[in-house]
Amino acid sequence: MRKDRLAHYRKMLVEKHRQLVEEVGKSALYGKGQEDDSIKDLGDQATTAYTREFLFELGNGDRRLLKEVVTALQKLDEGSFGSCERCGEVIAEKRLEALPFARYCIGCQRAIEEEERMATG
Ligand SMILES: [Zn+2]
Repeated sequence: MRKDRLAHYRKMLVEKHRQLVEEVGKSALYGKGQEDDSIKDLGDQATTAYTREFLFELGNGDRRLLKEVVTALQKLDEGSFGSCERCGEVIAEKRLEALPFARYCIGCQRAIEEEERMATG
């Protein structure tokens, strides 16, 4: 991949990383501060439990994404950025433009999702 393209993706990843660190930091704070008044005002215990679960899920998703962004930045450093981790083919630039932290080409991504669906039933 050309150097200017790599620099472009690095910029995107660094920006995404910054956003996620903020988000993860925030959700970690919410996770600890559940007993505050803003949550109680929402209503009964069920609502509180739901909200807690929702924030927890959100935090987990962000954390996973953050890990993927960090992995992509490492791949940029190693020079393996833009290659599918499964089949080794080049990942389409259109895909990287939307998901600069994509680890797999679209074909492998679909195959993996299919396998996961089969595994979880
Ligand atoms: Zn692949």
